[in-house]
Amino acid sequence: MNKKTYPKYATVILDIAVDKKLDYGVKPEQLDLVKKGTRVEVPVRGSLQKGYIFSIKDHPDFTPVVPITRVLSEDELITSDLFELAVWMSKYYCAPLRQVFKALLPASVRAETKHKEQLFVMRAKTRGELSVLCQELRNKNSAQADVLDVMLNVTKGILLSELLEETGGSRSPVDTLAKKGALIVDIVRVDRSPLIHEEYFLTKHKKLNPDQEQALKAIVNALDQNKFETHLLFGVTGSGKTEVYLQAIDNALKAGKGTIMLVPEISLTAQTIERFRSRFEGHIAILHHRLSHGERFDEWHRIYRGEAKIIIGARSAVFSPVQNLGLIIVDEEHENSYKQTEEAPCYHARDIAVMRAKMSNAVVILGSATPSLESYYNAKEGKYVLSKLGSRADAASMPTVTIVDMKREFEKAKGYTSFSDALLTGIKKRMALGEQSILFLNRRGYHTTLFCQSCQSGVKCNHCDVSLTFHKGDNILACHLCGYAVSPPPQHCPTCKAPDPMKFRGVGTEQIEKAIHAVFPEIKTLRIDADTTKHKGSHQKLLRDFGSGKADVLIGTQMIAKGLHFPQVTLVGVLNSDSSLNIPDFRASETVFQLITQVSGRAGRGALKGEVIVQTHMPENPTIQLASKQDYESFYAEEIAVRQAFNYPPLRPMGKIAFSGTDPKETYETAEQVRGLLIGQLPAEYEINPVITAGHAKVKDKYRFQFLIRGPGIYPISKAMEQIRARAVLRSSVRMHVDINPVSTFF
Ligand code: ADP
Ligand code: ZN
Repeated sequence: MNKKTYPKYATVILDIAVDKKLDYGVKPEQLDLVKKGTRVEVPVRGSLQKGYIFSIKDHPDFTPVVPITRVLSEDELITSDLFELAVWMSKYYCAPLRQVFKALLPASVRAETKHKEQLFVMRAKTRGELSVLCQELRNKNSAQADVLDVMLNVTKGILLSELLEETGGSRSPVDTLAKKGALIVDIVRVDRSPLIHEEYFLTKHKKLNPDQEQALKAIVNALDQNKFETHLLFGVTGSGKTEVYLQAIDNALKAGKGTIMLVPEISLTAQTIERFRSRFEGHIAILHHRLSHGERFDEWHRIYRGEAKIIIGARSAVFSPVQNLGLIIVDEEHENSYKQTEEAPCYHARDIAVMRAKMSNAVVILGSATPSLESYYNAKEGKYVLSKLGSRADAASMPTVTIVDMKREFEKAKGYTSFSDALLTGIKKRMALGEQSILFLNRRGYHTTLFCQSCQSGVKCNHCDVSLTFHKGDNILACHLCGYAVSPPPQHCPTCKAPDPMKFRGVGTEQIEKAIHAVFPEIKTLRIDADTTKHKGSHQKLLRDFGSGKADVLIGTQMIAKGLHFPQVTLVGVLNSDSSLNIPDFRASETVFQLITQVSGRAGRGALKGEVIVQTHMPENPTIQLASKQDYESFYAEEIAVRQAFNYPPLRPMGKIAFSGTDPKETYETAEQVRGLLIGQLPAEYEINPVITAGHAKVKDKYRFQFLIRGPGIYPISKAMEQIRARAVLRSSVRMHVDINPVSTFF
């Protein structure tokens, strides 16, 4: 059999980590079934493995070859447009092709989830017990600890397939934990009915105002000509961007073209979805992270078969197998959640949207009230078509913004206070009028640190270099990076053992809620943060409750900053506007500017005029000043000058090469070694920064180091990295992570 020849040969890229491409024979009866991107099963060292065909050729690169065992169902292939995109991504983001393919197809589709019965994993012990077990296992058996990490964060349970997707490991630690009685693995019937059965009214197109009209005309013009073009739709919240999207989609639909509409995960709320359903019911597929495996499988196939022509989803929806793709919309294009950061490929869905559209002669719309520096720069350079929407479409006026100096408020209050006088007066007025307020704070929990008054050290996580946050409701100190928890909080310092009592510091949303009740005992509040939205549907319910007037004040983290429309909200308080400005990251100012502008956009969207109060310790800070005036142009001018001066993106691309490992010395040395090799390989004009400790020096017992590279192009960096990887200088105990154009250079 080994000497046998075949009519054709195929190079196959396996799902498992074999970085070499392997050749297999194509049997005569398989000839019609295989092409680039077809999913196949092949023998590898005595076992059967799945993979994709990378190329078909007449002669193998080596002999003997064995044949492809099985061609998997024809609708699991990676379509030719996505295949081309994958090859580009692999080069650009410097990621192995098998990992890019993995990002392209949902796990349920790859796993051939044909039937509706699946295995479901649940906790068989309390969270507390499992948390203790998890700590015990952390250093002894990290695979089991990883499984428990995931299980500690799920509400009821999780599908086995999803669990394995998250841990990236095999099933055996799960089975071991089940045998120990820590977990239960059971068969469930997956309910595939869509999650959202909201009532909706069919709505008609609105008559566009002149700005909207002009923007739409330019978009439709490109659509009609099948011409690749990127349009940046720049307009404040409420200026009517969504109405332009809706009418552009309608145009694409009438021309028989498909649309992908990307929204940040957080704004995939009933409110957004309902708006699209009310225009296009029947044509829509919605992909969000709360879909079960089976639902995702079904939606993917509806899209693949062309039954759904409008796909709404978060980041990974950009890879939907849409037929005859005509339009890709990226709403809130400046959002960081479009960037994949933890796993290779570290792609940015906005950049993928533009590249995919280019390959398909499609049109892209990027929409934002605060465009990313990247997109605005591209518009100024003439690469994108810029359309501005001037004012609010529904005749609501812009809110007035007041900056409050918190240092002065502390003096007045003779000590710390979370609320300025102006803010309290404002809330009181709204309560009397029956209007609503939103309070925004970027921290959850009750206190952000517990520290020792004697040695001044804060209680840190045992596994991460980060302070533990106090959650009063659960009476625990918890790590927001790994889930480690201590309950009850220690009475004395674990570091110096001094007898002095410990002290709490720092304010989170949980405390703000309590504090506002102390000021106004009759006030009704709702809180939206990661702690109050753990259960499926709770986020939606809280928003619905607030929308129907069940509370005077909504308190929340960035989860409430985006895309919500509450006509009764006339006051927004930004409690700690400057907290991120102290992070040493070149994007810090941009982040703060965006946040203040976005949050302010929540005020006064109905007929009532809005007011925004921005509390800060840096009232003179130019970013805060410009944000409160919503003066994007001046902010852009200042910020782009800084980027230019330091060769930061978007002027020059950047790569972050990060390393993590359990042994700090070994991890650091590997980083140095790779850096040395890069210096040798890249031209002198590439700036390679020294190796530094990452913003979180340790996470889940792994030490982290990193360095940055800037230069005229990405490809030379990716190519050099690929060569370094291929030469296998890396120790298996150290993980190297390449992030091209990272959204965060510090953490
Ligand atoms: P954005 O997406 O920029 O936040 P929206 O498209 O949601 O703005 O528009 C804000 C509000 O104005 C919505 O209630 C919308 O229905 C309404 N609106 C948008 N365009 C028009 C228009 N041309 N005429 C009247 N109302 C409009
Ligand atoms: Zn931790």
